[in-house]
Amino acid sequence: VIRCRAAVAWAMGKPLSLEEVEVAPPKAGEVRVKIVATGICHTDEHMLEGTLPGVDFPVIPGHEGAGIVESIGEGVTSVKPGDKVIPFSLPHCGECSFCLNPESNFCLKSHVSESQSLLPDKTSRFTCKGKQIHHFLWVSTFAEYTVVPEYAVAKIDARAPLDKVCLLGCGFSTGYGAATNTAKVKPGSTCAVFGLGGVGLSVVIGCKVAGASRIIGIDINKDKFAKAKEMGATECISPRDFKKPIQEVLTEMTGHGVDYSFEAIGHVDTMTAALASCNMNTGVCVMVGELPPDSVISIDPMLVLTGRTWKGTLLGGYRLRESIPALVSSYLEKKFNSDLLITHTLPIAKVNEGFELLRAGK
Ligand code: NAD
Ligand code: ZN
Ligand code: ZN
Repeated sequence: VIRCRAAVAWAMGKPLSLEEVEVAPPKAGEVRVKIVATGICHTDEHMLEGTLPGVDFPVIPGHEGAGIVESIGEGVTSVKPGDKVIPFSLPHCGECSFCLNPESNFCLKSHVSESQSLLPDKTSRFTCKGKQIHHFLWVSTFAEYTVVPEYAVAKIDARAPLDKVCLLGCGFSTGYGAATNTAKVKPGSTCAVFGLGGVGLSVVIGCKVAGASRIIGIDINKDKFAKAKEMGATECISPRDFKKPIQEVLTEMTGHGVDYSFEAIGHVDTMTAALASCNMNTGVCVMVGELPPDSVISIDPMLVLTGRTWKGTLLGGYRLRESIPALVSSYLEKKFNSDLLITHTLPIAKVNEGFELLRAGK
């Protein structure tokens, strides 16, 4: 058993508290990882607010991290102690009907089908003050050591800087993959990206790498515009600067709507606006933001009947066990610069400050 520090969420809506926790050794098929760095994704915030289904408190949040394998359980063959790894929240068991379908990117063991609050054998490896603490999405990167199933961790290039590539564990891969993998943005196309947070800015990077000639960033926080332009946005607009709905503004700006639109916020109204912003005939709209459970979107069916395609994506549609190592290689080859997404670097003891910065749009 390892004793180390972790940020524990004892209850919904409460700040995290830094605790000493015990992390039990990995059981068969599991891997214990020393987490070196982690990002904060808005999904962690949704979880703390209680709008993510299937989460049990107390819990150790975090799902966008990178680390080094400390020890392995019986039967583990794909990683060994000392390997650099990225754990991921969409497992790939390789055995279920979803995993066996080459077109699907997530497993029947993912949180969409069943809770990942406990490891697959329905027990936890974390305890604190004599209490069992739950896992989050089988990842829990806000701990100095965590235990994950072997099929939810990918070995990456030993040269990768963990404090940078941790973002590939969620936000970057989600946005970049939404553009290059889910939408398959074509060279010369026009794109609109709603929401310029970590995920939306990664969509911008993906559109740019895919060769889009016009990338329009949309956010109510204008402080995001400079960074979006640095990453490839050709223009940025705030819906608050217009009297008419943003979909009408975008349609006028582009003639008949954009070729690809992306919603990386998680609101019903911006989801509908993104759909209506793309070309009625051939436009593709990708839903990336997460809506609270039981949300309902009502749309004019003509929006889809005329030919638009409306898609969603989890983690950029990637089969992460194979895609994460490939993305890390692309990072090392400088195919994209995800380092631009890093705004602040804080020690684990300041994790609540990190959430304050996220809430303040910084
Ligand atoms: P973030 O908080 O960093 O960014 C959200 C951005 O949206 C902010 O810049 C904010 O100013 C902007 N915004 C808010 N309301 C707006 C509005 N009405 N109009 C325009 N802009 C608005 O969040 P993030 O980490 O980038 O995550 C974005 C969303 O993606 C979240 O809902 C998150 O849960 C979701 N997400 C989904 C996946 C997936 O696999 N589909 C993965 C990761 C995150
Ligand atoms: Zn599976
Ligand atoms: Zn995330």
